[in-house]
Amino acid sequence: MNPVPDSFGSLVFNDSVMRQRLPKDVFRQVQLSMTDGKRLDSAAATVVANAMKDWAIEKGATHFSHWFQPMTGITAEKHDSFLSPVGGGRVIMEFSGKELIQGEPDASSFPSGGLRATFEARGYTAWDPTSYAFIKDGILCIPTAFCSYGGEALDKKTPLLRSMEAINRQGMRILKLFGNHQVTSIKTTVGPEQEYFLIDRQVYEKRKDLVFTGRTLFGAKPPKGQELDDHYFGAIKPRVAAFMKELNEELWKLGVMAKTEHNEAAPGQHELAPIFTTTNIAADHNQLTMEMMRKIARKHDLVCVLHEKPFAGVNGSGKHNNWSISTSDGANLLEPGETPYENAQFLLFLCVVIQAVDDYQDMLRISVASAGNDRRLGANEAPPAVVSMFLGTELENILSAIENEEPYGNLEKEQIKVGVHVLPKFPKDTTDRNRTSPFAFTGNKFEFRMPGSSASISGVNVVLNTAVAESLRQYADELENADNFEAALHDLIRDVIRKHKRIVFNGNGYDDAWIREAESRGLLNLRTTPDCVPYYLAPKNIELFTRHKVYSETELRARYEIKLDSYCKVLHVEAQTLVEMSRKEILPAVSAFIRSLSETVRARLALDTESPCRFEREEIAQLSRHVDEAYEKLLRLEGAIRALPRGDTLDRALFYRDHVLSGMEDLRQNLDEMERLTAAEFWPLPTYGDLMFSVN
Ligand code: ADP
Ligand code: MG
Repeated sequence: MNPVPDSFGSLVFNDSVMRQRLPKDVFRQVQLSMTDGKRLDSAAATVVANAMKDWAIEKGATHFSHWFQPMTGITAEKHDSFLSPVGGGRVIMEFSGKELIQGEPDASSFPSGGLRATFEARGYTAWDPTSYAFIKDGILCIPTAFCSYGGEALDKKTPLLRSMEAINRQGMRILKLFGNHQVTSIKTTVGPEQEYFLIDRQVYEKRKDLVFTGRTLFGAKPPKGQELDDHYFGAIKPRVAAFMKELNEELWKLGVMAKTEHNEAAPGQHELAPIFTTTNIAADHNQLTMEMMRKIARKHDLVCVLHEKPFAGVNGSGKHNNWSISTSDGANLLEPGETPYENAQFLLFLCVVIQAVDDYQDMLRISVASAGNDRRLGANEAPPAVVSMFLGTELENILSAIENEEPYGNLEKEQIKVGVHVLPKFPKDTTDRNRTSPFAFTGNKFEFRMPGSSASISGVNVVLNTAVAESLRQYADELENADNFEAALHDLIRDVIRKHKRIVFNGNGYDDAWIREAESRGLLNLRTTPDCVPYYLAPKNIELFTRHKVYSETELRARYEIKLDSYCKVLHVEAQTLVEMSRKEILPAVSAFIRSLSETVRARLALDTESPCRFEREEIAQLSRHVDEAYEKLLRLEGAIRALPRGDTLDRALFYRDHVLSGMEDLRQNLDEMERLTAAEFWPLPTYGDLMFSVN
């Protein structure tokens, strides 16, 4: 017996449950609200709420919650029980249509980026019928959007849904031009690969930096790291296997299609990839996946670390965002296709993405910016901060033939000119796997590799969808007015390639030479969060998001504030933690070791006055120097934290980067040296070796 199909989705109020439990016309209304965004009327909502409640109670649920995704990057819930008093001390279990559709949590403790100053503290949550309700820990969770009372989005779901509408609106115009009339809507799809580390809980808890900040703030390199590459795809250890098994089972019950799992490059690092689905659902599922990873790890006496760079000098964790566009009749618009027409349509959609990535490099960079991911981008085995695209040799050759109106393969120049007939059949596996590209075409989808492991995937997909919607809009405007569609299409494709080919790079993205070349091509290299975030408010970006009704200007400004503010907060907590660990743990421990060495010297000299005591003396000399230096740096760092400028959020973020972060890095140098020099019995913390090889 295979237990998986039976339990799959058993905690999800999905289509098959609804078909069973809802009257036909209500079921149809729900379907329409899912596919075409039609609103449910209140009578239907009441019926759905009742059916949901009955189903949830049968599954043991006692409470319901609107489940939403505020700007903290994690999910929020507020539980209400189904209990409702009916007089005489009796209760019934109730859940109304109104409670399903709308909630009113107090929004005042969630980040709002200033939206709260202008609007009321109340916020409201609104049911998102495109994502199924589910039961988690005995709570019926209803996926919702979260807005301020004035209607401004306070969450990550609302703009994502709006961006999906935008790409649908513009993409449908293009499909019509290709005579594609059966398609009723298009949706983007995403399969996010999630990387993470597992650390033994007891070892983890001995490091305040891991507990408070999610990463190690210092730590000397272990004698054995990932050099041997013996972890990647290696045999999975029994404790990890047990964790993965339980994780899969719990995710399957929630309808998350966890599919592949393997060890990653660094010791203690792993990856989980689900089967792709509609972007909005993929975003919800990825949040659930991260939550379950953390929770289930604890049950196995492990801790799941989702930080982008838990250890310096070792691979960080990313979240590859595999992205494509699919039509209501199940076609993938990034699939090269069989017929010349499909080929031409494919080429157009390829161009749409090329232009979007080039025009909105800055927004893509912002969408992955965080204090944590800044540490990862450009470091070991991670894409640089420069956005570029990889298309594969074959596709690039085809594009360059079109660009130069030259023959390609056995095709005549004339055939190239007609544009729509040019594409030879090319096998999917010609997409040589360039693992160093931030944005790679992988046969029938794009893989965006810059997102960090801990972030919600909503932000990156909002940018991708909206930027692509904008190129679609421009092309539709042009092609709708063309006298000769095929000729106009050919010229359009050729011009887009000419104009945007600078973003295409098929070489080694990890190479320093590329960074220099990228700069000479005029590509942006925005290394840190405070470097890129100001681009949020560039006129072309405000224009983009307001035109497609994804963000209002007020919402954009709010997000700009939140991004910078959370950057400052993360660095603040890190700096405080480093100061405390240095003062209370490291410096006293090294001091004690120095004293013990001095006592040894005295003892040895008492036995033999000639004894050179070289080991002890040299250790003392070096460690004393490091203690003194470290202490000076510690005082400077404390001073920097106290001296924060008043200015605006950008000033603060720059100050944190230039004085606090750099002060931490500076102090770290001495701490790492002290770790190398101090006797193991005196060193108070687990080392990198202890942490990375803690699980067996
Ligand atoms: P790799 O590790 O080689 O990059 P994986 O197989 O681990 O590849 O991950 C590929 C991911 O891409 C999976 O989550 C898969 O579901 C997803 N994917 C495949 N096709 C599409 C598509 N059309 N749209 C979005 N994601 C897709
Ligand atoms: Mg991948």
